[in-house]
Amino acid sequence: MGTERRPRALRLPALLLLLLLSLSVACTQVNPATGKEELVLISTEAEMRIGLSVDRQIRTEFKVRDDGPAAARVKSVGVRIAAVSDRQDVEYRFALVAAKDMNAFAAPGGFVYATSGLVAKADDDELACVIGHECGHIAARHGVKTLQAGMLASLFTALLDENTKKKEYKAAAQAAVTLLLLGYSRRHEYEADLLGVRYAWRAGYDPHGMVSFFRKLKKVEQKRGSFPEFLSTHPDLDKRIRAVEKVIRAELSNPDGTLKKPPAPPEGGGVRVSEPS
Ligand SMILES: [Zn+2]
Repeated sequence: MGTERRPRALRLPALLLLLLLSLSVACTQVNPATGKEELVLISTEAEMRIGLSVDRQIRTEFKVRDDGPAAARVKSVGVRIAAVSDRQDVEYRFALVAAKDMNAFAAPGGFVYATSGLVAKADDDELACVIGHECGHIAARHGVKTLQAGMLASLFTALLDENTKKKEYKAAAQAAVTLLLLGYSRRHEYEADLLGVRYAWRAGYDPHGMVSFFRKLKKVEQKRGSFPEFLSTHPDLDKRIRAVEKVIRAELSNPDGTLKKPPAPPEGGGVRVSEPS
């Protein structure tokens, strides 16, 4: 989600990234979620390996639960969203993080986490929209693109200086990880919101759940009386509410304001959802 704190101090081994740098093959490809052609430096396979490392790190820093009723709810909603996502070449995995905040986040390669605070306070439509938002980040490859930007910068540095030392390369790779974990840009947040309501609607949930969820978040913020630091880099909730309402009206509603009937879900899914390791 956009309005949450991201786990700090997540670190991928620099060596892994260096390996990925050397393995990645540059090509352009049409993004299935946005329909835009873009440069792809990190293959899906490499992305999933990055995701696995991030997942491992998250599990050492947070209490992640794969069983129990709250985790089961995240999974059952998540499976329905994953089945209608524009991206089907990754394995989606859903887990619960024990934390009071209403929060959710995604790691590249299909990893989605929802906090117990979110699951306790959100109804199914709201949860579907939030999970849809996170799956939207994965489908549109936002995490990878953020990482790629860092990789491009480091490659650029290396090209400028032929005498680039291993140590400097390592530092550049670390900077790329920091970039990824700093969070997504505003544009990525709007895009994920749009994809989130679309996926929730396709999966048979009410896309207005996104609007009511944002209203709940707003109340929490007002109660706190101050804005958490991470909000300063994210679009404000009123703007996000307006953007989401516009998409629901223009894309998902009939002229009389009722919701359009979503397309039939894919037979048997075709989606790969894995049990967390
Ligand atoms: Zn987000």
